[in-house]
Amino acid sequence: MLVAELLNNLIDLQSVDKTIFEIEKRLGEIPAGLKALDGEIEAANSAIKQKEEELKRLQLERKNKEMDLGEKENTIKKYQTQLYQVKTNTEYTALEKEIGGLKADNSVLEEEILEIFDKIEAAEKALEAEKRKLGEEKNRIETEKKKIDSEKAEIEKKLIELEEKRKTIVPLIDKNTLSRYERILRGKEGVALVPVKGENCGGCFVNLPPQVVNEICAKEKIIYCERCARMLYSEE
Ligand SMILES: [Zn+2]
Repeated sequence: MLVAELLNNLIDLQSVDKTIFEIEKRLGEIPAGLKALDGEIEAANSAIKQKEEELKRLQLERKNKEMDLGEKENTIKKYQTQLYQVKTNTEYTALEKEIGGLKADNSVLEEEILEIFDKIEAAEKALEAEKRKLGEEKNRIETEKKKIDSEKAEIEKKLIELEEKRKTIVPLIDKNTLSRYERILRGKEGVALVPVKGENCGGCFVNLPPQVVNEICAKEKIIYCERCARMLYSEE
């Protein structure tokens, strides 16, 4: 086979392989991309959970303080009844002092309960806002995932077409050249064959000696770049 003809077949193959390489690279990135999106949802969910726990903690604190308040009120009532039964002034004064202390405690408790109510209200608002935000996030992420899924389906279909096309070109190239080409292809990011650009390798841009450029143009054998080892061809 003429080298010129071989090079033309290699050019066709490289054109297919470049796209195959890009598609496979993209397909390889997709799982990580989807995982990252799931991670975003998880992060938003955990932010919600944290706010729910904060709300629960406040509600429990309120309940405990209300119970405390109720118990103290009962004690006050009990002491107030006892006031009518005591025999001595000392006992009366002591009981009155107890009642005064409990009432002071309760006014502090009532103050604290009101503060907790405010905190609960704020926590509920924060939770609502977080849920709304997550709802929007989920919609955005779902749209993003659908977009990726349809992109995946589309490029997978294209990949099959390219593989088919590849099968029609491969038999036109001798085994030795093909295996060398494929080895370079794997090592050089899907680009094994490059055109000469001016006097430079179109792959690594090293300056090529005039004699090498002449040899490439002569198309008597395949010339490899001395620096990047890619196959070279002239576009003229
Ligand atoms: Zn090169």
